[in-house]
Amino acid sequence: MKIITCINEMKEWSSQTFFKDKIIGFVPTMGSLHEGHLSLIKASIAECDATVVSIFVNPSQFNPNEDFNSYPRNIELDKKILHKIGIDVLFTPTQEDLYPNKYQTFVTVEKKTNYLCGASRSGFFRGVTTIVLKLFNIINPNIAYFGEKDWQQLEVVRTMTHDLNMNISIVGKPIVRDKDGLAMSSRNGYLSEEDRSKALSLSKALELAQNLVIKGERSAENIRTEIRKVIEQKQGTEIDYISVCDPESFTEQTEIYSKVLVALAVKVGNTRLIDNRIIGNA
Ligand code: AMP
Repeated sequence: MKIITCINEMKEWSSQTFFKDKIIGFVPTMGSLHEGHLSLIKASIAECDATVVSIFVNPSQFNPNEDFNSYPRNIELDKKILHKIGIDVLFTPTQEDLYPNKYQTFVTVEKKTNYLCGASRSGFFRGVTTIVLKLFNIINPNIAYFGEKDWQQLEVVRTMTHDLNMNISIVGKPIVRDKDGLAMSSRNGYLSEEDRSKALSLSKALELAQNLVIKGERSAENIRTEIRKVIEQKQGTEIDYISVCDPESFTEQTEIYSKVLVALAVKVGNTRLIDNRIIGNA
């Protein structure tokens, strides 16, 4: 595994003639790797000729009151994991190189980013699309892998690449969960044992929503109410949003007759967690 920090070296690696008719797979991450990340990396290794993983905690997607400084960073352990799994390049650019002093260019996807996490974390998706576009330009991958855990992010990146006529396939992969149902996240490490058990209410509420729809419930409002009850049973939780929405536009639905995205953002103690599930008929 080659470790590249310098942007120009990364560009040179990707532009080698060797890759002219070969497929480069790319998995962008903020590190502190877990099985969720590894599922994307394994997919890339299986489906592509070479795999690049980036680790960069992107400051432009954090608000000033968010956890940029305390975000978990485990670069040495991450390197060992990636070495073992057998990727081709680990790209670890520096903040100074990606956002030098006079940096002033950002890319924004409109509409879709007005809902869910975009509504509660202003500037978040602007930061995400900007760093993803920059990494795409540097690495020049053919395929990029994203997790459905961040469903809205995946859709926003898909929209950006489509709207900007980029020749990159965006592949989404299912949410990886712990045995007890908790969606894996680098932020789960913030949870105390007590908070972790409260955090299970997110996946339990989504499962309940699924079962209610299977039994014939069609009212999105009733689904939201039942989810709210499950979450609020646990003290120390604070609901940011409960959404039953269209999986591509994120507009709220009133009735469930086709496929909908049920998405949650909940603060458990000081940790903001998200989870989602597609329910209804395909
Ligand atoms: P992050 O390091 O949190 O920015 O995540 C990097 C990539 O891993 C994103 O595409 C995430 O959607 C994906 N990811 C994070 N957690 C999971 C999970 N539990 N299951 C599947 N993909 C995930």
